[in-house]
Amino acid sequence: MLDPSVIRDLRKIVGPANLLTEPEELTVYSYDATRLTAVPDAVARPATAEEVSRILLLANRKKFPVSPRGAGTGMSGGSVPRRGGIVLSFERMNRILEIDEANRVAVAEPGVITGDLQREAESRGLFYPPDPASSNFCTLGGNVAECAGGLRAVKYGVTKDYVLGLEVVLPTGEIIRTGARTRKSVAGYDLTRLIVGSEGTLGVITKIVVRLVPLPERVETLAAFFGDRGAALRVLPDTTKKRIVPRTFEFVDGAALRAAEGYLRTGPPSGAAAMLLIETDGSADSASREMDAIEAICREAGAAAVRRAKDRSEQALLWKLRKAISPALYAIKPVKINEDIVVPVDRIGAMLGAIDAAAARHGLLIVNFGHAGDGNIHTNIMIEERERAAAELAVREILETAVRLDGSISGEHGIGMCKSAYLPLEVGKDALAVMKRIKQALDPNTVLNPGKIFIDPERGAFDPSSGRGTGNAE
Ligand SMILES: Cc1cc2nc3c(=O)[nH]c(=O)nc-3n(C[C@H](O)[C@H](O)[C@H](O)COP(=O)(O)OP(=O)(O)OC[C@H]3O[C@@H](n4cnc5c(N)ncnc54)[C@H](O)[C@@H]3O)c2cc1C
Repeated sequence: MLDPSVIRDLRKIVGPANLLTEPEELTVYSYDATRLTAVPDAVARPATAEEVSRILLLANRKKFPVSPRGAGTGMSGGSVPRRGGIVLSFERMNRILEIDEANRVAVAEPGVITGDLQREAESRGLFYPPDPASSNFCTLGGNVAECAGGLRAVKYGVTKDYVLGLEVVLPTGEIIRTGARTRKSVAGYDLTRLIVGSEGTLGVITKIVVRLVPLPERVETLAAFFGDRGAALRVLPDTTKKRIVPRTFEFVDGAALRAAEGYLRTGPPSGAAAMLLIETDGSADSASREMDAIEAICREAGAAAVRRAKDRSEQALLWKLRKAISPALYAIKPVKINEDIVVPVDRIGAMLGAIDAAAARHGLLIVNFGHAGDGNIHTNIMIEERERAAAELAVREILETAVRLDGSISGEHGIGMCKSAYLPLEVGKDALAVMKRIKQALDPNTVLNPGKIFIDPERGAFDPSSGRGTGNAE
């Protein structure tokens, strides 16, 4: 519980209308897409970096936790205020401050919805490529904090490849600027890269400078359906051999496809064992030429059906199927344990084989889909509540395999509170110790987003039986 004097001070900083303390208001800020919940003592909605700074100075003086929150679409419990205290919400810091067309740079506040920035850039012939599937409802601040990836990473990279500079309020209240507005800058340590992906534990992001690229003239979209998963998996290496880099290369397995088809009631199910959703972009000529080649590769690999979108509405229809998978999976079983492993692309087959083996060993249904073009597979263990213990055993085996295959336990969702017990698996004890020393140096009183990334010394490791995956998330 926060001291009443803290509530009074917070009210003075953000104004009475922007300090929420009513239980029904607090509930709204208590969870993210994992559906893990912890109710904060208060929610502050600052309007400036200076207000954020004053809040953090107060937090250090009075020793209360501060958890930054964008839109709460995170998949690892990152914004959930595990130790109570206050949630810092950026809904008032939601302006696109500048689109600098001459330098192809945008400057935005952290509460901007990613899709709004994409659309604003596109209206000027420019392109902000990072594209998490949640782009219409997640924030740029959350993307930077998680280093969000998404659908176009295969060709364009992830959020860290676009962030040029940041304004950051350190946990101890200082306001710093990192990076520059230029492509080049090697002045000192790269603090921008340190903050990107730090999951709201090293600083509060209050301004973001990103680079933009020219908007591609044309996008081609194709869906290919296969009776055999192995055949679908051959398309990516064959595409690489032709030196084509599609902008999107999504893989959907048969169970996920059936669920989405049933959910959308699209008519008779395709009966496919796998679907690929592929996009190329570039000049009108190159995008079409590359997609012609990919279409031929799909047919040679044995695709049972290939659908190539003729216009934007057909593109939207194909994407509708892919985007329906998340909610559709709940028709299979009530609990979804979502993992986010990534492996080098030539090991996707080995990874999926290991996942099948884990499913068989533990008698579980595991459904896979995701951004196969960059090796990032969303592995969904669909369970009844009573299967949770078996599911957690499978999770460990799957994460161990991803690391053994030179991959990562999280491609884009972050460690948050769900995966801290597994982090040493990947980074080892010495690198983990360095990370902890960085956290300690920047946040000596552990006020900023405690209980995330590292096992919480106060609360212990995340308890897998605490209800993860019972909601309607990715
Ligand atoms: C349907 C669905 C699809 C998704 N698809 C993808 C995908 O394709 N790719 C992908 O990468 N992710 C995806 N996600 C996960 C999620 O949308 C991303 O992690 C996103 O970046 C989170 O943004 P947010 O604004 O919701 O952040 P939140 O969930 O509110 O917070 C996420 C983290 O960022 C921190 N944070 C937020 N704002 C700030 C700030 N201003 N300063 C410091 N720290 C801050 C929080 O403390 C927390 O640790 C998906 C989620 C859903 C529900």
